[in-house]
Amino acid sequence: MKIAVIGTGYVGLVQGTCLAESGNDVVCIDKLADKVEGLKQGKIPIYEPGLAELVHRNYRDGRLKFTTELAAGIADAEIVFIAVGTPQGDDGGADLSGVWAVGRQVAEALQSPKVIVIKSTVPVGTNAELTRRMKEVAKVPFDVANNPEFLKEGAAIEDFNKPDRIVIGVRRPEVAESLHELYAPFLRTDRPFLVMSPESAEMTKYVANCLLATKISFINEMANLCEAYKADVNDVRRGIGHDQRIGFHFLHPGVGYGGSCFPKDIRAVIHMAQTRGLESRMMLAVDEVNEAQKQVLVRKVTEHFKGDLAGKTIGVWGLAFKPRTDDIREAPALVLIDALLAQGAQVRVHDPEAIPNVRAIYGDKIVYCDRPYGAVEGADALVIATEWNEFRNPDFEIIKRLLHQPVVFDGRNVFDPERMVELGFTYHGVGRLVPQ
Ligand code: NAD
Repeated sequence: MKIAVIGTGYVGLVQGTCLAESGNDVVCIDKLADKVEGLKQGKIPIYEPGLAELVHRNYRDGRLKFTTELAAGIADAEIVFIAVGTPQGDDGGADLSGVWAVGRQVAEALQSPKVIVIKSTVPVGTNAELTRRMKEVAKVPFDVANNPEFLKEGAAIEDFNKPDRIVIGVRRPEVAESLHELYAPFLRTDRPFLVMSPESAEMTKYVANCLLATKISFINEMANLCEAYKADVNDVRRGIGHDQRIGFHFLHPGVGYGGSCFPKDIRAVIHMAQTRGLESRMMLAVDEVNEAQKQVLVRKVTEHFKGDLAGKTIGVWGLAFKPRTDDIREAPALVLIDALLAQGAQVRVHDPEAIPNVRAIYGDKIVYCDRPYGAVEGADALVIATEWNEFRNPDFEIIKRLLHQPVVFDGRNVFDPERMVELGFTYHGVGRLVPQ
């Protein structure tokens, strides 16, 4: 099929590339000329495991093209995906200006009937409003469908190729059929293809993210309680997770969720509720708990050094909001770095992929290290802010030798407290019982 994808970010680039890989002719469109030029030269603007190789192969074979020209890019397409950002607006709700702008451009450029698919995460009612706005401009018939994206950064290719489910919101069944044809290669293992109204599809994405964020805030609150009462949250996790009604997924305590989705989507739902005169008390609490949790490491570090961080050096491992991505949007590590700098500490950081993005924010205010041990050299403590696999089994003797003081703040509970104490470290986890 002939496909256009507008917005070449984490979602659009993966979508376009994976659809090209399954034999479709895909044009990826972005308004950023530098990004598009870079992609044509094989420069992948984001880090996503396995993506570069797929982009290079499909571009070379001519199934994947990049352009800034929206009208030309969509001219031959049967299906046009909109995958532009929908960041948090000033009122807390989703900022849909990108979706409206693209919708208008598509409507103006339409020469033949097409299916326009909203892939971006959008508030309920966006499909109806986009259809209304486009009808004012378009001269040919078109359909607007929703197809929310559930991929996880860091495992996006895998998620795209083997989706747990595909959700489609349509007003006409024929539109769902053409999308089913497109997605058939990814549904080989009888994964469900769920067709519903656009409103239900829009809501589905938010409900999924609200529940996932709720699980994180829930276990973080319980971890803090464990700590206060000298219980170990890891044991508690095992104690509850074997209950099949509960399970283990997404119940890992830590320093709070970040990223480009959960924070803004939870706030968009709070805003959606307010718009209808409702109050989303649970989502207000989830957001509040998460903001507080981002301060947990700051508090632990500050308390350990008795409020005197001036002149201290703190090494930080992990900057991305989660492992296997370079995405630092709303990353808890940034909250920590800001607080450390504000208290006069020096900060040395290491992350396998996110350093360029962090450097763009902090410039020469912090020290960037290519290797994990570099961030520890001469530091007064090590903080783990993101649980990259390569941090799980380091040489603790080297760490001890390089640190001024053997102190570790483990914001993701990657190390075993007993072992750390045996090795001679002062260890702080999240909700963990530490032998005295
Ligand atoms: P992103 O910021 O990485 O990418 C958006 C891209 O759209 C950018 O390259 C930007 O230049 C481009 N763009 C913006 N306005 C444009 C316009 N008028 N014309 C052409 N291009 C334009 O965003 P993302 O992380 O890919 O997210 C996109 C959407 O998907 C959001 O609604 C997000 O909530 C949703 N989503 C994201 C994820 C994720 O893990 N990142 C997962 C599921 C859903």
